[in-house]
Amino acid sequence: MEDKLAWVERELENLKKEGLYTTIRTLGSPQGAWLIVDGRKVLNFCSNNYLGLANHPTLAQKAKEAIDKYGVGPGAVRTIAGTMELHVELEKRLAEFKGAEAAISFQSGFNANLATIPAIVDKGDLIISDELNHASIIDGVRLSKADRAIFKHKDMDSLRDVLKENAGKYRRTLIVTDGVFSMDGDIAPLDKIVELAKEYNAITMVDDAHGEGVLGRGGRGIVDHFGLHGQVDIEVGTMSKAFGVVGGYVAGDRRIVEWLRQRGRPFLFSSAMTVPDTAACLAAVNILESSTELVDRLWENARYFQGAMRDLGFDTGFTETPITPVMLGEEKLAQEFSKRLYEEGVFGTAIAYPTVPKGKARIRVMISAAHSKDDLDFGLEKFAKVGKELGVIS
Ligand SMILES: *Cc1c(COP(=O)(O)O)cnc(C)c1O
Repeated sequence: MEDKLAWVERELENLKKEGLYTTIRTLGSPQGAWLIVDGRKVLNFCSNNYLGLANHPTLAQKAKEAIDKYGVGPGAVRTIAGTMELHVELEKRLAEFKGAEAAISFQSGFNANLATIPAIVDKGDLIISDELNHASIIDGVRLSKADRAIFKHKDMDSLRDVLKENAGKYRRTLIVTDGVFSMDGDIAPLDKIVELAKEYNAITMVDDAHGEGVLGRGGRGIVDHFGLHGQVDIEVGTMSKAFGVVGGYVAGDRRIVEWLRQRGRPFLFSSAMTVPDTAACLAAVNILESSTELVDRLWENARYFQGAMRDLGFDTGFTETPITPVMLGEEKLAQEFSKRLYEEGVFGTAIAYPTVPKGKARIRVMISAAHSKDDLDFGLEKFAKVGKELGVIS
């Protein structure tokens, strides 16, 4: 008999042959502008630590204090004995920060999507999803027994066509979109989506993972960016990116939040956020509410870096946010560019097919408030050097 797991080796070999095998690098330092990666000091252009909160002294201090008072683990799922005062406080503060009626927290943004979509739509309902939505939305859609339809990326004619074609055929319709698309840094036309949703009485859901702490007044997110308070039914957020910790949440209509407490499966069947995570997230909300300084610095850095990259002759795609795709085209070129940057002391990941379409490979630079102007200049100098060397710019 053949070894029943031999296929795994073959598949792994195939990934390596096709250049699709992910090598996981190990950090020997906290998150920040500079990292020790596999023993080497490099400028960090890869992380989602938009505001530099991942190693912020106040967050760390609040986490320590919470451990002294409440211990480490929640000991149970939220609905049995895992809801601590900290969780309740965090949800109250998140709702206030977002200007929403209520909020519910989950262990991650991924879980928030898995919890929400199947709880909202079921057999006899329709989900309409942007073609470039995040994997966690796609998986949430897969967990629901509702029918699915896709609209072209940010294309409101396409969304209208799907709505029109299906009008009257379903009990409920859910329109779901990413807020900021993580590979291109472009923003969903949420105002227009809300308009169309009203016309067709559809429920609206936006996943604001990359807009949280970035868009809107003081980082209040995409709903605030468009001034749509009270008009988007479900706002999914993550506390793993700009908030610098880990965890997810849904903010929105209080009836939806109450329903998710009853029917969100990861809420009911997976243990609550840990004590230090919850306390650190609370500290992050407090920092964001007390000052716009970090968000302002993030945008200042993004404008500076993106402007200088364009001046150098690089194509930064369609970005409208601090996510900076440096468009290179060929998969092999992107790999080589990333490797050369790393040798020069800059950690910037190559992103290629199947994450983005074939021929649209790129280096994705993640700008942070943690970067100083000198850091950005160092990165720019290395991009210029490698770009010339590889014939990307002249
Ligand atoms: C990162 C991301 C998530 C996952 O968030 P986690 O809190 O890390 O699980 C979900 N949705 C989108 C759009 C994301 O970019």
